[in-house]
Amino acid sequence: MDKHKSKKILVVGSSNTDMVIKAESLPRAGETVSGGVFFMNPGGKGANQAVAVARLGGRITFICKTGNDLFGHQSHQLFEKEGIDISYAFSDADSPSGVALITVDKNGENCIAVASGSNAHLTPDDIATVEEAIDAADFVLMQLEIPVETVEFVAKKAAGKNKKVILNPAPACTLSKELLQNLYAITPNETEAELITGIKITDEASACKAAERFVELGVNNVVITLGSKGAFVYGEGICEMIPAFKVKAQDTTAAGDIFNGAFVVALAENRSMLDATLFASKAAAISVTRAGAQSSAPYRNEV
Ligand code: ADP
Repeated sequence: MDKHKSKKILVVGSSNTDMVIKAESLPRAGETVSGGVFFMNPGGKGANQAVAVARLGGRITFICKTGNDLFGHQSHQLFEKEGIDISYAFSDADSPSGVALITVDKNGENCIAVASGSNAHLTPDDIATVEEAIDAADFVLMQLEIPVETVEFVAKKAAGKNKKVILNPAPACTLSKELLQNLYAITPNETEAELITGIKITDEASACKAAERFVELGVNNVVITLGSKGAFVYGEGICEMIPAFKVKAQDTTAAGDIFNGAFVVALAENRSMLDATLFASKAAAISVTRAGAQSSAPYRNEV
């Protein structure tokens, strides 16, 4: 589709830098494990989803808050290189950028400590200064790695202006009824869906029950992602399981983020929920065949 005909997407969310050491074993308290290999990867659910949107040809503006430090400057450079509009992104004078310190052992077991830093300081007051970014958007995609009050504020403003708000409720927390009622769609994975609805998802019937519970809570469109089992889509009169594409999975990091980015790109091209879920499943399946988070996001011609 001609990029200029698709609708505009605003992502509001986190940006982190993942610092990873692959070592023989995970260090115990007080222990030093030497001989590891170091990698530094851009991450954060907001940034991952924004990059996925950009690579798939979406018209994307990203609002995040990074620190006035090396990581923050580097992330902004990367966003610009991906073609993401960051004219409304914030730089925090007082807190450092968000980082995750990750150790991975030879069996792939990991140990992660996260300092959300400036992400935790993206406030409703900040958003109030850049409301024109919401005015200009047609779709707003958010996650929960920034303060929930900020997510609630954006959702209320955006829904009030008839924008379609999509929430990927990750990592899961308790959501207010008002927030849920301001959503056009919600895209939890099975764990998040269970945490929010109280319904354990084991098969298509229980996924359908959880989706119906979301409808009772005020969200009409629901997509529950089920890892290698696929995704369950509910809304626009359909209730269907889309099996995952069969691929040789290498690294499922950020599969959900790529899925969400692709899902909103398809919706912005006026495609149906079912079509958008299919497109998102394809993009996410490609991403799991590659290492990394943002680096695994596919380009449009690949999907
Ligand atoms: P999250 O990363 O948020 O936990 P999921 O693990 O549910 O999200 O994955 C999101 C989507 O990515 C799935 O619905 C599916 O379409 C795709 N996916 C995940 N793992 C695989 C896999 N092993 N093979 C193919 N597709 C996958």
